Amino acid sequence: MNKIEHIGIAVKSIESSNSVFEKLLGVAHYKMEEVATEGVLTSFFKIGESKIELLEATREDSPIAKFIEKRGEGIHHIAFDVTDIRAEMVRLQDEGFTLLNTEPKRGADNKLVCFLHPKGTNGVLVELCQEAN
Ligand code: ZN
Repeated sequence: MNKIEHIGIAVKSIESSNSVFEKLLGVAHYKMEEVATEGVLTSFFKIGESKIELLEATREDSPIAKFIEKRGEGIHHIAFDVTDIRAEMVRLQDEGFTLLNTEPKRGADNKLVCFLHPKGTNGVLVELCQEAN
């Protein structure tokens, strides 16, 4: 793995959270993008090398809606940048981690992504992401 690519934060309203994080970080978000397959609307902030992804549910059965219902708003996942997502998926599966998808999925911000089940990572939902071509 190369670095932390971003931290994902589950929010109830991306509109109000955009203004909170704009005040907090001192910069405006640089993009918003809906990932219809996941039922989420995302907003991205960048400071230096670091990115924050805000996630709002766009439907009731969205993983973000379920997360907020159970745990409230807050840090949802940590995403790591990888060079070869398929190779990392094989490596991590061999190490005993549980992958939540067997094939890389198309995520926000032009990424191929795969999530690891938090039960094997001390309760942290981990996202692998590789820049898509
Ligand atoms: Zn993410």
